Amino acid sequence: IIEVTNLKKSFGTLDVLKDVTFEVGKGEVVAVIGPSGSGKSTMLRSLVNLEQVNGGSIAVEGEYLVKDGVYANPQGIKRITSKMGMVFQHFHLFPHLTVQENLELAPRLVRGEPAEESRRKRDELLRKVGLTDKKEAYPAKLSGGQKQRVAIARALMMNPAIMLFDEPTSALDPELTGEVLQVIKQLAEEHMTMVVVTHEMGFAKEVADKIVFMDNGEIVESGSPDELFHNAKHERTKSFLHRSL
Ligand code: ATP
Ligand code: MG
Repeated sequence: IIEVTNLKKSFGTLDVLKDVTFEVGKGEVVAVIGPSGSGKSTMLRSLVNLEQVNGGSIAVEGEYLVKDGVYANPQGIKRITSKMGMVFQHFHLFPHLTVQENLELAPRLVRGEPAEESRRKRDELLRKVGLTDKKEAYPAKLSGGQKQRVAIARALMMNPAIMLFDEPTSALDPELTGEVLQVIKQLAEEHMTMVVVTHEMGFAKEVADKIVFMDNGEIVESGSPDELFHNAKHERTKSFLHRSL
């Protein structure tokens, strides 16, 4: 459902992505791991056009966002990026809107979705993330784990085919990570296609179909959790896993 080929990105003279190639199948959960600065966020942000790459291709459901460094036209970019919902480390909720307003904003404004439909989906998703009783609350009144669950529900309001998560639990106190990982796990059980950048090795092992290890702007190796965690081929992977476990 996602095909990334020879993706290149530099910031000035710094090559952050060097020929990154990987694919994500429909319904697959891919965990992306790797040291700080290895390019994980840049790769994820490129998928939703928050970063513009210098070369290579990204195709989603067979349609190119960028092909050999050449981007689709603005309508094409919008159509392709709207297939993906993104959840960030720091939630990015609108502080002046209540939980339910945070959820309804994009579908109403961007899609012109009928109010009744947005409200129905909103209630369903709040139930799913266990926050029905918080719908009138403002983000400032929520715990980090609750904020992140709102952010996930908000992304799901746009009916994405794919969900992207950039370290969704890194900003949370350890006792709050479980409730967020549980929501992501539930999405996995419903066969949502997901790419999750994470430092949570236990979660990656348990939930991911495939693990991608990035280091220094490259995908060093990828494979099933068993292959990566127990039979890593590359010294860099082994030493990273050794440091992370
Ligand atoms: P972390 O685990 O710390 O989140 P990461 O793997 O997500 O790291 P990136 O955020 O993708 O890494 O950054 C990769 C490299 O690109 C880093 O060296 C970073 O300093 C650099 N970088 C990222 N964004 C920019 C930017 N806007 N301008 C210049 N350099 C950048
Ligand atoms: Mg990052």
